[in-house]
Order: sequence, then structure tokens, then C-alpha cells
Amino acid sequence: MLNQNKEKVELKKELVVLNKERQRLTKELSALRLIISEINSTLDLDRVLDLIIQKAIQVVEAERGSLMLFDHKTEELYVKSSIGLSKKTVSAVRIKPGEGIAGWVFKEGKPLLIKEGAKDIRFKKFDEIKEELKSIISVPLKIRDQVIGVINVDNKRKGDFFNKDDLLLLSTFANQAAIAIQNARLHQQMKNLAITDGLTGLYNFRYLKGRLEEEVKRAQRYKRPLALIMADIDCFKKYNDTFGHLEGNRVLKSLAHILKVNVREIDIVGRYGGEEFIIILPEANQEEAREIAERIRLKVEKYKFVNNKDQSDEKKLTLSLGVTSCFQEDISPQNLIYKVDQALYQAKGKGRNRVEVI
Ligand code: GH3
Ligand code: MG
Ligand code: MG
Repeated sequence: MLNQNKEKVELKKELVVLNKERQRLTKELSALRLIISEINSTLDLDRVLDLIIQKAIQVVEAERGSLMLFDHKTEELYVKSSIGLSKKTVSAVRIKPGEGIAGWVFKEGKPLLIKEGAKDIRFKKFDEIKEELKSIISVPLKIRDQVIGVINVDNKRKGDFFNKDDLLLLSTFANQAAIAIQNARLHQQMKNLAITDGLTGLYNFRYLKGRLEEEVKRAQRYKRPLALIMADIDCFKKYNDTFGHLEGNRVLKSLAHILKVNVREIDIVGRYGGEEFIIILPEANQEEAREIAERIRLKVEKYKFVNNKDQSDEKKLTLSLGVTSCFQEDISPQNLIYKVDQALYQAKGKGRNRVEVI
């Protein structure tokens, strides 16, 4: 009888503990749900990434955190967004898969809880961070079976170490975060597809049209200069007829690259039609635009286009370019296009491979 009573008391105690645990988990999960829905409320990739790290820190009450993504070009993890890390650290940290804690988590695709980070031999590389490290959680960001990055948080705010509950919570959070990243990435890709030309990767006609309207308005409102270049490949029909359409397409791709690397950061390069290109140059006056056009003309003239059909002979091609500009002038985008087309027409008329300004 006595034993039975004792057992009852023990069971009751256990029930109370379990109930408390259940309440805590329910509370945490509903908080997590709210956080996730907040992250999912935007499709802007940078904003999503910033929100994720903000919320990750909030979820486990960490002092600092970083979201690392894998750069396929360099095959390294880099810090995409962070809280509590210096700019220097953010730009210096580059981790190979398998290296350090984040590298291990990325490679293995498994979360990791480390109570005393500074003592962990896997954390040997980054002295600046190591100095102040107490405990760390690092969890993979996985889309299906592919790991795309890692969330790291360190130093529990209330002074003690992270525990297994924190690890579980952050892992659950990371699963949802990865989906939010994927959604935003897909959205970004769709947006990019809608505004770029499939062959060259340059902006397409529709985007150029809209953008030119905006830039003309902006230039007029703030009384700023604006210039326009139109370029057309010389005798391209002959090139196509001789080497075929596919070789012509290769030329268009190479040319798109030449255009992009020879303009300023703020210039907008697009494919206007078949072998015609337009460059919108905000803040550029006529002379600056002419110089840029001349630079492009020379680069193309010197460029050795490699031809798959006839590799013995590098093919030469030239461009004709028209330039026009407006400054404190009440001109419509259509008229600007008309003027730049006229300038290009003159360049063709005067013998091609030249720049004309109207
Ligand atoms: P011009 O110096 O007067 O500009 O002569 P052109 O031969 O370049 O001009 P034309 O307008 O007669 O021909 C343009 C040619 O561009 C026609 C076509 O063969 C080629 N072209 C247009 N779009 C594409 C494309 O997407 N791919 C390829 N390969 N060729 C294209
Ligand atoms: Mg042409
Ligand atoms: Mg043409």
C-alpha cells in the first residue's frame, strides 16, 4: 500500500514535469511558426537571409550568428549575413568543406553542438572569433539532400551553454529557413528570366524600354545628364551565311561580354534586337558616352572571335555605334531612340566600324 502511494506520487511528479515540457515545446513551436511565417512573407533574397540570421539568434538567445552560403565558383563557404561579427571577420572568413566547425557541418550535413568552442580543435582557424567563444551551434541549411549553407550561432545570451533543446530548435528552424531561401531564389530566377535575353544574358528589349523611360524621367526631374549608345554588328549576315547561325550565336555571346566589361557599373546593357545592342548611360554626358563607345569599338575590332568551324583562322568583326544624349532637354524616350538610331545609321553610311554622335 505504502509502495503504491509512493509510486503514485512519483508518477504525478513525472506528469507535472512532462506537462511543463509539453507546454514549453508548444510555446516554442508556435513562436517558431510565427517567425517562419514572417520570413516567408518576403521573397526578396537578401531580406530573407538577413531575417533568417536575426531570427536564428532570437530563437536560441544567442549573442552572435552568421549565415554562410556555399560559393560554387571558389568551392568555399562565405558569410552572407551576420550579426555581431566585424566587417573584417565577415570578409576574411572563407571555409573549405570539412574545415573548422561550419565546414564539418556543411560536409557532413549534420548539426553540431559544442559546449566550449574555444577549446575545440575543429575551431582553430579564426583567432578573432575564437577569443570570445563560449558555446556554439552550427546547423546545415539543406534543400532535400543538398546542403546549401550553414547557420552558426554562438554564446548563449544568459551566460550558460547551449543545450540539446537549442540544437533541436535551431535544426527545425534551419529546415524551414532553407525552404524560404529556396523560394526566394526561385523567385529571383524567375524575375531574372523575365528581364534577360536567353542567349546573351543581357537585359531584354522589354526591360530596356521600361528602364529607359525611368531613366529619362529621372534625368529630367533632377536635371541630370543621360546618354544612350546603340551598337550593331557590321556585315553580320555574311558571317552567319559563311559560318552558320550557331557560330553567329557564339559571337553574340562574346560580344555581350565585351560590352558588359567595358561600361561603367551603373550602365545598363541590353540586347535591343537580333544583333543590335543598347547601352543606357545614366549620369554620362555626350563626350563620356562617346569615349565609352569608342573604347568598345576598339575592343571589338581587336578581339579574336574563335570559330569552331574554322579554328585555324580567328575571325575579325567590327561594330558600328551611334551615340546621343540629353541634358536639361524635354525629350521623350522614343525620340532619344530615334536619335541614337540615326547616329548609328550615319556610322553605317560613313563606312562602318566607327562611332557617330548626334
Ligand atoms: P550591317 O553592317 O548593315 O549591319 O549588315 P548586317 O549584315 O549586319 O545587317 P542585316 O540587318 O542585313 O543583318 C543582320 C543579321 O544578323 C541577320 C541575321 O543573320 C543576323 N542575326 C540576327 N539575330 C541573330 C541571332 O540571334 N543569331 C544569329 N546567329 N544571327 C542573328
Ligand atoms: Mg548589322
Ligand atoms: Mg541590324
